Amino acid sequence: NYGSNETSTPSNNNYLHGLIPSNFDKESCLSRYEWPLFRKSFPYMPSSYLLHKLRNYEDLHKKCGPNTPLYQKSIQQLNSGHSSIEPMECNYVVWIPHNGLGNRILTLASTFLYAILTNRVMLIQMNDELVDLFCEPFPDTSWILPPDFPIKNLNEFDVNSNVTYGNMLDKHVIISNHSINTEVESLPSYVYVHLVYDYHALDRLFFCNDDQIVLRKVNWLLLKSDQYFIPSFYSSTPMFEEKLDRLFPAKESVFYLLAHYLIHPSNNVWGLVRRYYMSYLAKADEKIGIQVRVFFFTKVSSDVIFQQIQNCSKVESVLPELDFNGTKAFKPDEQNPSKAILVASLYSYYYEKLKSMYYEHSVKTGELVSVYQPSHEEQQKTKNQSHNKKALAEMYLLSLCDMLMTSGWSTFGYASSGLAGIKPVILMTIRNKNIPDMPCVREASMEPCYIFPAKPSCKGKTVDKEKLQQYVKQCPDFDHGIKLF
Ligand code: GDP
Repeated sequence: NYGSNETSTPSNNNYLHGLIPSNFDKESCLSRYEWPLFRKSFPYMPSSYLLHKLRNYEDLHKKCGPNTPLYQKSIQQLNSGHSSIEPMECNYVVWIPHNGLGNRILTLASTFLYAILTNRVMLIQMNDELVDLFCEPFPDTSWILPPDFPIKNLNEFDVNSNVTYGNMLDKHVIISNHSINTEVESLPSYVYVHLVYDYHALDRLFFCNDDQIVLRKVNWLLLKSDQYFIPSFYSSTPMFEEKLDRLFPAKESVFYLLAHYLIHPSNNVWGLVRRYYMSYLAKADEKIGIQVRVFFFTKVSSDVIFQQIQNCSKVESVLPELDFNGTKAFKPDEQNPSKAILVASLYSYYYEKLKSMYYEHSVKTGELVSVYQPSHEEQQKTKNQSHNKKALAEMYLLSLCDMLMTSGWSTFGYASSGLAGIKPVILMTIRNKNIPDMPCVREASMEPCYIFPAKPSCKGKTVDKEKLQQYVKQCPDFDHGIKLF
């Protein structure tokens, strides 16, 4: 029984309530087992249907994974230039990395859910900057696309490539209202699915039922995105509705559960998290994470952003309040209550300001407040592997906090609060150089925002709009964006 309303399930192991497969070698990926030790609460149980689909997926991946006979057969099909008329045992979706690490984590989760929904095997293109960042998520196989994959220019695909789904529709290489029985000799052996923010109207039809019916017959999909595109499966693809309901009875747990299944920092990255956490954070009674992402197009000074953080903190009671009279005294021979503030930012400014603040003043509640920042890299260096390791470590350190204040529009922030399972306080993005009257909002959902949603004009069957309103809403930090809640 994989009943849709079940939220807990018996499992053959206890790691994250059965989310983690039991047949892994523990030592090869310590984060999988240690993250739950550092963070005791796991607010969302996987449904038994999700666990069932994950175990099926693992079997499929093992059967079709790199260098298996079925993989070789699918590569031959790819080389033939057209998709097989007979259904193939193994069909694939290849994830192509794009933009920063936060974007990548959101698109990995989205692509993986698509793979589960459509019985495809997900393989990832491994660029140098991604080497040794994540553990292999599936037992006894690999998710890495073999380097001898015949299509070499994956990184160069963009919205104008001939092989995008949109351009193939435009040139009638594919006709989207194929009936199920239509002859499929004409379908190409692969389609490039462009779900980057600059996608065209025809690319967005990817989310429509009719288009999914056609795409089912294409053996290889190559997918590039920088968006958390899962909400569009809910809002535009009725064929996925029932499965989605059963997979995730709680809509706001989609990213949380997918990410804790799929994304685990390598031992190398986990070493950074573990050392930092144990040295500075573990002993604090409460850990507050502040993530400050500065988008230069907003042209706002650091002082203004710091003021916004303080204004927000006053409204939402995030940071310990200063005691300007200095009347509260510590008890030197007793255990004093303590708070740790973890700052994640490319810059040291916010850390320095906070550190001085709590050095120069005591706080009204009499707690000891310490302020930490693991790194300040000054610049985004997405092509640099060691830079990415620190970024991933900081997302995981934030995921171990009890309370989060994050920057609006930032996928780094979305990924961190999604991993934490915390509804963050989100700083509104400053426009016109002025701090908004409402400096921040307390989020109703920890789901990431789909910042530039596809909103396709689908023909044929559509989703019940009334039902949709129950679980998809506008993002508080970006009017056009949508999110699950
Ligand atoms: P977004 O641009 O805020 O949506 O987040 P992304 O993660 O996609 O891209 C920003 C990139 O800048 C990150 O992946 C890091 O490489 C870097 N970066 C931004 N903020 C931080 C931070 O607080 N710490 C570290 N170590 N890197 C950061």
